[in-house]
Amino acid sequence: MTPLLDALGRPLGSLRLSVTDRCNMRCGYCMPEAEYTWLPRASLLTFEELARLAGVFAGLGAARVRLTGGEPLLRHDLPTLVSLLAGDARIRDLALTTNGVLLARHARALRDAGLRRVTVSLDTLRPERSLAFARNPRHAEVLRGIDEAAAAGFTGLKLNAVVIRGFNDDEIVPLLDYARALGAEMRYIEYMDVGGATQWSAGAVVPRREILEVIARRHGAVTPLAEPGSRAPAERFQLADGSCFGIIASVTAPFCRTCDRSRVTADGTWFRCLYGEDGIDLREPLRQGASDEELSARIRSVWSGRDDRGAEVRATLGARAVLYPVEGLRADPRREMHTRGG
Ligand code: SAM
Ligand code: SF4
Ligand code: SF4
Repeated sequence: MTPLLDALGRPLGSLRLSVTDRCNMRCGYCMPEAEYTWLPRASLLTFEELARLAGVFAGLGAARVRLTGGEPLLRHDLPTLVSLLAGDARIRDLALTTNGVLLARHARALRDAGLRRVTVSLDTLRPERSLAFARNPRHAEVLRGIDEAAAAGFTGLKLNAVVIRGFNDDEIVPLLDYARALGAEMRYIEYMDVGGATQWSAGAVVPRREILEVIARRHGAVTPLAEPGSRAPAERFQLADGSCFGIIASVTAPFCRTCDRSRVTADGTWFRCLYGEDGIDLREPLRQGASDEELSARIRSVWSGRDDRGAEVRATLGARAVLYPVEGLRADPRREMHTRGG
C-alpha cells in the first residue's frame, strides 16, 4: 500500500481513540478546574461506530491504535470494544493509556479481549501527593492496578509521569527505581501547555536535560538508544544495568517532524494535532450513512493537506502563556486534553 502522506511528508501511522471525556481524577496539569463542560451523551460514538472509524483509519495506515480518554476504563464494558478492535486485522498494535484506578478490576478481561499493551500514568509514589494534586484518594488502587496488569500478562508495561517543578521533581529517581523493580519502563513527560493546562507556566516545566542529569547523578552513565526510523514520541535511554527509560520532550525538543498521529474524540471529532484548533466532524457522515470508502476519501483528502506542527510553533513563541483561558475551554470542550486524549 502506498503510504498516505501529509503536506510535510508524514504518513498516517497511528490513532489515539478517546472513548470518553469523563475522568475519575483531576490531575493539576490536565483538569485543574472545579467544573467542566462535558460532551453531550447522545453525541458519544457507540462501540460499533468507534470500531468502524478505527478500521477506516487503520485501512489508511494508522495500524497502531491507542485507547485513551478522559479515563478510558470509565467507559462501561471496554473489553467489548477491545475485542472488536483486536478482531480487525488492519489494526496491528492495540494499546491503552489509563490512570490505573480501575485497572485491577479490568486487567484480565482486557487481556482476554485482546489488548496487548498498557501504559499507566503514575506521577507520584506518595498517596498524599496524589490526593492533593489529582484529587485522587485511591492511589493504592493505582499501584494494585499496575501489579494486576503485570499478573494478567501485560509485558512491556510503561509508566508515565508528567514532571512538574515543585510537585514531583524530587521523585524522578524513586519513580524510575519503582518501575525498574517491576520490570516496567518509566517515561517522563515534559509538562505541556496543551488545552486544559490552565495552570501551566514555563517555570514549572522540568526539561529533558535536567531529568537526565538527576538520573545520571544517581545511576551513573545514561546511554541514548539509537532507534533509527522511530516515530515514537519517547526518546529512550539505557542505564548500565540494561534497564531503559524514556523521555517525551514535547516542550524543549518537539518531534512534530515525525508525527504520524491522529486523534479522534469520543464524539467522533478528528484532530490532526494535539494543539489543532479545528476538528473535523466524522460522526455526522458516519450517522448519515456514509460508506467506508466515503469516510476513507474524506480522511485521505484532509490528511494530504495536513501541515500542523503545534508544539514546534509553540516553541518559537517568546513569552508563552496558557493555550486557552478557561472561558475558551468551556465554549468548546474539544480543546481540552482530557477530551482529545493525551
Ligand atoms: N486518563 C488517562 C491517563 O491519565 O493515563 C488517559 C488520558 S490522559 C489525557 C493521557 C496522558 O496525557 C497521560 O499520561 C497524562 O499524563 C498526559 N497529560 C495530560 N495533560 C498533560 C500536560 N499538560 N502535559 C503533558 N502530559 C499531559
Ligand atoms: Fe489525569 Fe488522565 Fe484524568 Fe487528565 S484524563 S485528569 S491526565 S487521569
Ligand atoms: Fe504531532 Fe501536533 Fe504533537 Fe507536533 S504538536 S507532535 S504535530 S500532535
